[in-house]
Amino acid sequence: MAKISNWGMFPEIEAEQIAHDRYAEIAALVKRSDVIIARGNGRCYGDSSLQTTIFSTLKLHKFLSFDAESGVIHCEAGVLLSDILEVIVPKGFFLPVTPGTKLITIGGAVASNIHGKNHHTEGAISKYVEAIVLLTENGEILKCTSSENNKLFSETNGGMGLTGIILSVTLRLKKIESAYIRQKTIKAKNIDELLAYFEKYKQYTYSVAWIDCMMKGNSAGRSILMLGEHALRSELNQKKAAEPYRIKKTNQLNIPFILPSFVLSRIAMKAFNFLFYNKQLKFEADNLIHYEPYFYPLDAIRNWNRIYGKNGIIQYQFVIPFEKGKEGLDSILSTIQKSGCASFLAVLKTFGPAEQNVSPLSFPAEGYTLAMDFKVSKRAFDLCEKLDEIVIACGGRVYLTKDARMKKDTFLKSYNTNPAPSAKFSSLQSQRLGITQPA
Ligand SMILES: Cc1cc2nc3c(=O)[nH]c(=O)nc-3n(C[C@H](O)[C@H](O)[C@H](O)COP(=O)(O)OP(=O)(O)OC[C@H]3O[C@@H](n4cnc5c(N)ncnc54)[C@H](O)[C@@H]3O)c2cc1C
Repeated sequence: MAKISNWGMFPEIEAEQIAHDRYAEIAALVKRSDVIIARGNGRCYGDSSLQTTIFSTLKLHKFLSFDAESGVIHCEAGVLLSDILEVIVPKGFFLPVTPGTKLITIGGAVASNIHGKNHHTEGAISKYVEAIVLLTENGEILKCTSSENNKLFSETNGGMGLTGIILSVTLRLKKIESAYIRQKTIKAKNIDELLAYFEKYKQYTYSVAWIDCMMKGNSAGRSILMLGEHALRSELNQKKAAEPYRIKKTNQLNIPFILPSFVLSRIAMKAFNFLFYNKQLKFEADNLIHYEPYFYPLDAIRNWNRIYGKNGIIQYQFVIPFEKGKEGLDSILSTIQKSGCASFLAVLKTFGPAEQNVSPLSFPAEGYTLAMDFKVSKRAFDLCEKLDEIVIACGGRVYLTKDARMKKDTFLKSYNTNPAPSAKFSSLQSQRLGITQPA
């Protein structure tokens, strides 16, 4: 037994974590366990991959095939997106969908049906999954595609690990002409301006806005919108064009230990937000940047979760339909303002239509999605309960892979589901929310 927690460092539990690379041993482990859950790189924030017995997929790290003509890759579930990028970018391909960190496994990506900055134009990762090899509760190994074991295939995409252990994934990649992103950044004075810019620039493949949640009144929702397109070869200067698929090795800063929680005070956050908003002087700017800082700025700071102090972080990400967008976001921003809690990072994106044929637990649905971090505290928990009410009233829901605290009632009001998957594959979260029965 060892102490274990995910990225938010909350909750921390005592659990047995076992890793194998041989499928027969994994099947035997599953057969003899009463309850078990798969864990990838532990980058979900809360308890989605926690249980008394955990199967770590990190030893399942083999690449099984890559067709550089068609751009289809087959790899074991524990391979990290960062490793996939190192193989595919030099061959002119990119992940069809990527989250804000590349330090997650492909199995974790599929189980959470991850979205990126391109959901409004290109959807979530399940759209690009061609096949999943799944180990089920009786130790069977099944290939699942849209035509073979198709029900299990759908339920596993976004199924939060509750259908079995994903052993490998076959993924269709996206062709690119360079490793660079043509970026346009636009400053918005408040939420109304920001929503208008999202609408105006909705044809951009990638879009994301960083919001300063600490502003009030006419400045509430002050933000920077970051738009992006993969740069074409013809758009690179001579130096970059000589090596268009260059992989950048980032020099990582490290937060060496958990910082005292006063470090991330409201004053420090205000100062950071001021500097971030004002570092760009012009209201609009265009530049060409490598995909690393565009997609993964936080990966450059190893263990950045430690700046929140020893109690950890809760991340609150919700989606609400566009029709309720303005009213819902106004209400959420003012509730945060009044609560005295501050979010260091608040990121707004838009989602296109929800994916078809995925688990009812899958998160993306058409509308605005906002993600925020709060230091774990009673006040933050109370705030999140208030936010839950607003989200539900708007017809929205909270992202499971980021959740550590939602109540069963909130879940039932917001996710229209009765998936009743096997109780053998069960996380602390699925038990807390009543998705699976306690063993
Ligand atoms: C800095 C940061 C930024 C992020 N940005 C985004 C974002 O932009 N978009 C987004 O969608 N998410 C985002 N996330 C969340 C992250 O992408 C997901 O939580 C992802 O699932 C984590 O993968 P993991 O390999 O760490 O899996 P874990 O965190 O270990 O597990 C996550 C879920 O996947 C299941 N799982 C993992 N491996 C398997 C397997 N082999 N078989 C079956 N089930 C499995 C687990 O049971 C659990 O339910 C972000 C997280 C961080 C820390």
